[in-house]
Amino acid sequence: TSLLRPLVAGNWKMNGTGQSLEQLAAIVAGLDALPASIDLLICPPATLIERASRTAHGSRLLIGGQNCHEKSDGAYTGEISAAMLGDCGASHVILGHSERRTLYAETSDLVCAKADAALGKGLVTIICIGETETERRAGEALSIVEQQLAASVPAGARAATVVIAYEPVWAIGTGLTPTAAEVAEVHAHIRALLVARYGSEGQAMRILYGGSVKAANARELLAIDHVDGALIGGASLKASDFLAIASVY
Ligand code: PEP
Repeated sequence: TSLLRPLVAGNWKMNGTGQSLEQLAAIVAGLDALPASIDLLICPPATLIERASRTAHGSRLLIGGQNCHEKSDGAYTGEISAAMLGDCGASHVILGHSERRTLYAETSDLVCAKADAALGKGLVTIICIGETETERRAGEALSIVEQQLAASVPAGARAATVVIAYEPVWAIGTGLTPTAAEVAEVHAHIRALLVARYGSEGQAMRILYGGSVKAANARELLAIDHVDGALIGGASLKASDFLAIASVY
């Protein structure tokens, strides 16, 4: 059970063109059936953020980016700054997703610099951490999460603007999920670390679970202590799947 206001967030990754706004519109249309006590966020690809913001305008659906650059501007061809995301209507940004860490060699130090940049421009920052399958098998899940948390989350982090997402790499897009006991163990560990470092702010910082969340397992996963919402990849692409997950609250 979460003591905090849950956040149900969707990460569309590199999926979607203008036609996908139909799914976004269907999510907006379904919001009234969901409890007012949860926050809802969709992070489409950067090319859709401005149009998605227009589609969501006037509703409580929040729109976010999936990455940003650590610098404010300059000669960084192909990159997008935190200010640019905000300018398009994004209020949130996902940082340090395992795909960014693995495929684009993002280190925790870089993720921390990006988080500072995003927070400086007023974006709520969702910082992802999580162990690989090899690390879990070696009994290193807690220590890996601890290292990533310490190095990726900025010193002055506040509960209102920083969200942690625990995403075991081996559970992302695989259909595999940790057991409820495994999720509970990691989330309790993250909570203890956040409280030790940030005091009452750490108590109030949301910790999302991510990795193969779908309608069929959402009820069990979202009921675990210190699971304050979900970060959803594949199942956020279809409005009906996303709404079904959020409706377990
Ligand atoms: C993700 O990309 O953050 C994710 C959790 O993906 P999926 O839900 O598809 O496992």
